Amino acid sequence: MTDTIFPQLEIPETLAAGPGPGNTDPRVLERFSKAGVADHMQPDVLRGMVEAKHMLRQVWGTKNIHTFGVAGTGWSGLDCMMSAIMPGDTVVAFVNGTFSGIDGLTIRMKAATAEELAVDSLNPKPAGVQIIEIPHGQSVSGEIVEKALAEHKPKWAFMAHWETGSGRVNDLAGFAEACERHGALGLVDAVSSLGVSDFAIDDYPGVAAWASCPQKGICCLPLTYAPVSFSDRYIAELKKSGTRTFVHHPIMEARHWGIVDGKDVDKPVYHRTHSAYAVAAFHEALRIALTETVADRAKSYAHHEAALRDAVEAMGCEVTSNMTSLIVLNLPGKLAGREMELVQSCRAKGFGIWPTLSEPVQVRIGILNQLNEPAVTDIALRFAQAMNDFGAEIDLEAVEERLKTHYATRMAAE
Ligand SMILES: *Cc1c(COP(=O)(O)O)cnc(C)c1O
Repeated sequence: MTDTIFPQLEIPETLAAGPGPGNTDPRVLERFSKAGVADHMQPDVLRGMVEAKHMLRQVWGTKNIHTFGVAGTGWSGLDCMMSAIMPGDTVVAFVNGTFSGIDGLTIRMKAATAEELAVDSLNPKPAGVQIIEIPHGQSVSGEIVEKALAEHKPKWAFMAHWETGSGRVNDLAGFAEACERHGALGLVDAVSSLGVSDFAIDDYPGVAAWASCPQKGICCLPLTYAPVSFSDRYIAELKKSGTRTFVHHPIMEARHWGIVDGKDVDKPVYHRTHSAYAVAAFHEALRIALTETVADRAKSYAHHEAALRDAVEAMGCEVTSNMTSLIVLNLPGKLAGREMELVQSCRAKGFGIWPTLSEPVQVRIGILNQLNEPAVTDIALRFAQAMNDFGAEIDLEAVEERLKTHYATRMAAE
């Protein structure tokens, strides 16, 4: 292998029908590929970042001045959001699936003292952090949050808005209210909900910081920006305690987006190199979200999720999720236990669905950026065919007919 120059990398066109990434809009890819060569301080690149910041505040419904993008994926934004958690801090984190579980790990790493980290550095268990586990397939309720915050009175509280691992929507209003009542600084993983769910940050004053990702509801995979937003209270707390990161420092990173000393400025300040291509793509994705409106997108997701849910239930599957971009299901009795095999056979054919990443093994089928009847019908038929390959006897024409009827009656009712 040492002296080999490999042939050019060809990646086939597949259907990303999982929890994310979703298909990136061709208009976003076009902006990405048509951006000229320009450095990170070129005036149009900087203008694009400033405009993107303003559009992101609209998409997210917030006046939080510290609202911008962190280069990278969801975990990059989440790392930036968690940066103010310092060793010895008290935190209550609610975990109901794979992703909030990893968020819980991030929190434990940041809140651990040096001694606590040294005991088990890859899986620290600091005394100040309470992880409240909610069983897979269930949502975090306001009552659960209220009870835990009343008991532990932590400095920070954490919850995922939409837990993509189990496909569950958690009680954001209940979480935010409990944070306010008990004076906790709320932190929310909104990686899966931004751009899919119709919510506004400023309706939840109990939440001090939010983090999302580029490639789910924002439909901007060409590795761009993980949106983050911080309240003034978070920033004041951060200024007081400090944090041991330069690159993910919310105050320092904000400067390149033209946010300096808590104010919008016309002249951004260098923080790190940004890509003209990434800026152009992110800018376009936000323009599209605002043109379509988040409210309409949310309605469309609900509309198409209901159709796909109806189709897979008619195939005998049991749906346990309640997110609108994703269906998490158990296969019918006869195929139970073969989830992983079935998912692998679909993926081998370019139909990118997913298993759950933690126990129990379930199938996850997503509709990110697949918001039309032919696309949902295609997903349902590919899935039905895959089940038939494993011995289910599903009538494909009946599936197609059922979807047609579902859409026609829903359309008439709306
Ligand atoms: C996808 C996801 C993540 C991880 O995001 P990456 O973009 O893979 O870094 C974190 N939290 C939730 C809720 C997610 O859905």
